Amino acid sequence: MINTDVLVIGGGPAGMAAALSASENGSKVVLVERDNILGGILNQCIHNGFGLHYFHEELTGPEFAYRFRKLVEADKNITVYTNTLVTKIGEKFVEVMGALGNERINAKAIVLAMGCHERTAGNINLCGTRPMGVLTAGTVQKMVNIDGKIVGKDVVILGSGDIGLIMARRLTLEGAKVHMVLEINQTSSGLRRNIMQCLEDFDIPLLFSHTVFEVVGRDRVEGIYYGEVDENFKPIESTRKFLKCDTVVLSVGLVPEMAVANFVKTSNITNGAVVNEFYQTEKGWLFSCGNILHVHDLVDNVALEAKQAGKFASLYASNKLLASDNVLEVEHSKDFSYALPATIFAGQGNTEIKFRLKAKIIKKTIVAKCGDVILGKKFVLAGVPGEMMSITFDKSGANKKISLEIV
Ligand SMILES: Cc1cc2nc3c(=O)[nH]c(=O)nc-3n(C[C@H](O)[C@H](O)[C@H](O)COP(=O)(O)OP(=O)(O)OC[C@H]3O[C@@H](n4cnc5c(N)ncnc54)[C@H](O)[C@@H]3O)c2cc1C
Repeated sequence: MINTDVLVIGGGPAGMAAALSASENGSKVVLVERDNILGGILNQCIHNGFGLHYFHEELTGPEFAYRFRKLVEADKNITVYTNTLVTKIGEKFVEVMGALGNERINAKAIVLAMGCHERTAGNINLCGTRPMGVLTAGTVQKMVNIDGKIVGKDVVILGSGDIGLIMARRLTLEGAKVHMVLEINQTSSGLRRNIMQCLEDFDIPLLFSHTVFEVVGRDRVEGIYYGEVDENFKPIESTRKFLKCDTVVLSVGLVPEMAVANFVKTSNITNGAVVNEFYQTEKGWLFSCGNILHVHDLVDNVALEAKQAGKFASLYASNKLLASDNVLEVEHSKDFSYALPATIFAGQGNTEIKFRLKAKIIKKTIVAKCGDVILGKKFVLAGVPGEMMSITFDKSGANKKISLEIV
């Protein structure tokens, strides 16, 4: 049996940042990672564009992960167990298997930092046969960047999430012909910079309101039927066309890795835990951050959020996390897909609400209000659903529900 103050599950950027922050705040920390190395998904993201906000430098994913890994390894308050899978979370303890054998770790506070997994062909009820060559973008990323394997020559990408956009460029650079990216929505969930740098720069068409009607092929993908969808995402049969290809790459969304924490109340929008301002779930001893809480667009934001969560977990572990009894709910108008946290504690000081928009906005102002009192405003020149946004304001004027609106 192992005892610690703070236990962090998952050694990706969120887990490493949370562990470092909990240690900085005086806690003894155990960090558990199922893989044989810390770094999480960053280890397979070999393109650049990471770290601009956190390290003020442009790094690749492995470089970003390496910087954090060195800090974690040098920290005497943090014990890392790699090759160790958390199989169960109980009241202030976890059960693990792997390098430690079957072991129990007790902790005063636990931080969930297990990231996401990708939605698959089964999850989206992709029609047609199931031949070789239908792969998720993350699997393709690992096969190409880590295993050094080419996945196909004639590729279609379904979904315009960031991983799909990045893989469109990567596969093109490896000599494949990426025919098109099909997006069922009228806008992309990916970042604008990825659409420009990964598609437009390589003349790869992005077709909105389009989807794959059917995958064709017995042993290997031989092609797809594709076409337009109506406003209810129903295929418009008169637009059906055939395209010869050997690979269909799916980039159709990420799902928080909540299987071992399925006892926690979750949001039906983000599928992550419902948390308060301290990233604390309804179980006071359980905290959540990074992609397991909500899907982030930038890893820098993951690290900054996890730094906060690690600090609050450490304060909780040492009985120093002071919360007001006056809990203010956060609500939002229908222009937002979600806002996080779900609740804020009344009191002094600044607070931050993160959110995603439902549709593109141009030259609008985001307003945080309490009744008729305006707590904060943020002018947005251009905002899209693919970008995670936030508003920071002084909460001292708030004494009941806080609402977000666009004016
Ligand atoms: C396939 C994929 C590709 C991506 N590519 C990009 C990209 O190219 N660029 C970009 O900016 N963002 C990318 N992202 C987004 C990226 O996930 C985040 O930016 C960031 O890595 C999230 O950090 P995290 O620590 O929350 O999660 P992760 O990096 O996913 O780390 C979670 C860690 O938890 C571990 N873990 C999970 N369950 C357990 C368990 N039960 N016990 C022990 N350990 C566990 C995992 O092994 C993993 O190491 C990608 C995401 C995915 C899923």
